[in-house]
Amino acid sequence: MGGIFGICSQDECAMDLFFGVDYHSHLGTRRGGMAVFDGKRYNRAIHNIENSPFRTKFEDDLPEMTGHLGIGCISDGDPQPVIINSRFGTLALVTVGRINNKAELVRELVSKENAYFTEMSTGQINDTELTAALICQKGELLDGIRYAQEKIDGSMSMIASADGGLYAVRDRFGRTPLSIGKKENGGGYCVSLESSAYVNLGYKAYYELGPGEIVFMTPDGVRSVWKPDGPMKMCTFLWLYYGFPTSDYEGTNVEEMRYHCGQNLADQDRENGAAVEVDCAAGIPDSGTPHAIGYANQAHIPFARPLIKYTPTWPRSFMPKDQSIRNLIARMKLIPVDSLIRGKKLLLVDDSIVRGTQLRGIMDEMLSFQPKELHGRVACPPILYDCKYLNFTRTARQNETISRQTIMKLEGTDSVTEAQVEKYSAFGTPHYRCLVEEIRKSLNFTTLEYLSLDGMLSAVGIDKCKLCTYCWNGKE
Ligand code: SF4
Repeated sequence: MGGIFGICSQDECAMDLFFGVDYHSHLGTRRGGMAVFDGKRYNRAIHNIENSPFRTKFEDDLPEMTGHLGIGCISDGDPQPVIINSRFGTLALVTVGRINNKAELVRELVSKENAYFTEMSTGQINDTELTAALICQKGELLDGIRYAQEKIDGSMSMIASADGGLYAVRDRFGRTPLSIGKKENGGGYCVSLESSAYVNLGYKAYYELGPGEIVFMTPDGVRSVWKPDGPMKMCTFLWLYYGFPTSDYEGTNVEEMRYHCGQNLADQDRENGAAVEVDCAAGIPDSGTPHAIGYANQAHIPFARPLIKYTPTWPRSFMPKDQSIRNLIARMKLIPVDSLIRGKKLLLVDDSIVRGTQLRGIMDEMLSFQPKELHGRVACPPILYDCKYLNFTRTARQNETISRQTIMKLEGTDSVTEAQVEKYSAFGTPHYRCLVEEIRKSLNFTTLEYLSLDGMLSAVGIDKCKLCTYCWNGKE
């Protein structure tokens, strides 16, 4: 997916921008970029961060970046920031989101407006450049931003540097968050996808944009120039897995939400007679860990770490394209603790299961240490639909998910109908139990349980109607 960060400051902004962008590194693995306006022009740097962390690539660019206004991003796709000379003057732009109707939009702009686009080395058009072209279709910048938001099918949050300040724009349905921080000494503001990105930089949470809202920021103040104007459907997966634990979205901290999922799973097990006697609960690092802590606390069982991640030489950004090598790396990063596994009854908690290939590798390894029992618990329902709103790296093609693969196996077909999905996904029904049992067998768990949709949503603690649940129930 990616992350965006912007800053307008009374002081030089490059250092805060550098760290603010770097704190989004967990959200993307391909490109990093920064642009700082020195009063006349933007100094920009974009680097490939596939095999080394953001910080190592941008350190040398910092001395060149003088000024009080800056934007930056971590991106899984297109190189950003994009800088264009436009009817609005020089405009610098970073975006995060997904454009489903890209071909149609490009065709329309090229044929009707004689527009042209740079082709990237992947043969694709840069999403941010396309967004900038849409913005330039209108005579006023604000109208242009609104127009781009309306035309894009998918989602698009952005930060545009223009008019001596920053326009921060949250996508129409608020799928991704945008939070403004205020410098404690009154020296300016920043805007960030992850609210955790500015805590160590001396900013305090100041304002969270609503869905579709646009604010204009200068070092002297923040003004809402377009009020939130639509229903919210924020991505639940950001709390569950993608988001950084120290961030808050819509008033709910990510780490705490994960504890609540674990607690709800433990309660659900107790209520359904699925609670098991184990020596300890453990999470699959990293994101399964807080879910397991919540479970252990609620079920009054010890928490332990029979699997520990080796982090010193495995940067998050090392993500080879080949899925089998990625699976191998995922397994190599985790080292089992023999004495915590052998002969023990363990309850292993993960945030979610997508394809199940990495989990299967982890299970094989753990089983080779001969635990007495290995129970599996998952902090969300079975995943059944592709995300069509955000570009997450972890999503599989719909029919590759372990849930759909298992439904196909159970039905003896090579595709799945909507009626079948509905039949197998209704929590607690005989067909649902059958689906979970088949997945349990294929992964070699002693028992397996998934948290219900209600259990997961109540863990977030905000109005359920404001949350996107598409990847679990296909409901828009
Ligand atoms: S479909 Fe899933 S991953 Fe995509 S925005 Fe909705 S909750 Fe998030």
